[in-house]
Amino acid sequence: QNLREKISARIESRDKFFSLEFFPPRTKGGAVNLLARFDRLKEGDPLFCDVTWHPAGNPGGDTETSSLTIAGAALNYCGLETMLHMTCCYMTKAEITRHLSRAKDLGLRNILALRGDPPHGADNWSPPSDGFTYGSDLVEYIHAQFGDYFVVGVAGYPTGHPDATSYEDDIRHLKEKVDKGADFIITQLFFKAETFIKFEKDCRAAGITCPIIPGIMPIQSYDSLRHIVKLSRLDVPKEIMEVVAPLKDNDEAIRNFGIHHASTLIKELFDKGIAPGVHFYTLNREVATTAILKKLGLWAGAPRRPLPWKMAANYKRCCEDV
Ligand code: FAD
Repeated sequence: QNLREKISARIESRDKFFSLEFFPPRTKGGAVNLLARFDRLKEGDPLFCDVTWHPAGNPGGDTETSSLTIAGAALNYCGLETMLHMTCCYMTKAEITRHLSRAKDLGLRNILALRGDPPHGADNWSPPSDGFTYGSDLVEYIHAQFGDYFVVGVAGYPTGHPDATSYEDDIRHLKEKVDKGADFIITQLFFKAETFIKFEKDCRAAGITCPIIPGIMPIQSYDSLRHIVKLSRLDVPKEIMEVVAPLKDNDEAIRNFGIHHASTLIKELFDKGIAPGVHFYTLNREVATTAILKKLGLWAGAPRRPLPWKMAANYKRCCEDV
């Protein structure tokens, strides 16, 4: 089964899944720690893990090579189903092909196809002459060059991409990515269930039928929250800031709040029956994510508690059988 089929099977059986996102480490020590973390998190049985991509010259440094290396290690040494992110806005077609070929040589079969962030904002930017302007171009190119070898995911933005002319246009462009061969969507992080509920409904109304996996970032510290929302150009709801800001020097209290907040959010999405699983922006940490997974009964081996969304699913299935 490839990843697309695995996701479909889990949707079919109404068995919620989770996936875990990591960024490539910058040091040898960081790599050792991350590999150990992969081993520990594997025990929870994630459906897949993914590794972000940071082109040369960008914050995060020249990690193209380390993204490939760490994704290859996650797959080949830790036995995790692994997805490699790839951004295209800095690269020529030849460079993209070279990286995809390397990914294939490593046995990687899943790519999250992204445009990436242009250096000085989208307005003043043009792609390399032999390159691509949008994530949809990369989706198309991957299939043109490699056929069905790679399962391809793309990014979706529940509040609209910050460069988009409008929320509606952004959903139209998301549909273009799906029409060009994306198998599933992972969303940008968001803070309220209603944001995802609206987005999912609008995507379905626009004719997008593939799985849409909500991306959740457990709030783990004041600084990391501020850093991520600045990078992603997102607003933190006032009611969250009001809790977190007074706790800014107490990481443990913020983490506990983050665990509670993310668990409540995910549970609400599962209860509504619109999320097939959940994608965690782990920020390469594991304590909060593991706690949330255990709380929700998603961690393999965690005591199975009666999960409302499972009971509802079983009840529905039981009625259908009758
Ligand atoms: P696109 O889908 O190309 O969209 C970019 C903008 O162009 C949008 O405003 C869209 O509406 C518009 N657009 C699209 N098509 C058209 C068209 N035909 N005509 C006019 N306008 C159009 N960044 C990294 O650097 N590394 C990562 O590993 C990474 N991982 C990410 C993972 C997820 C799940 C998410 C949500 C984001 C990630 N990002 C990452 C950030 C991402 O690269 C940026 O948000 C980037 O600005 C957009 O990439 P995209 O593929 O979504 O762009």
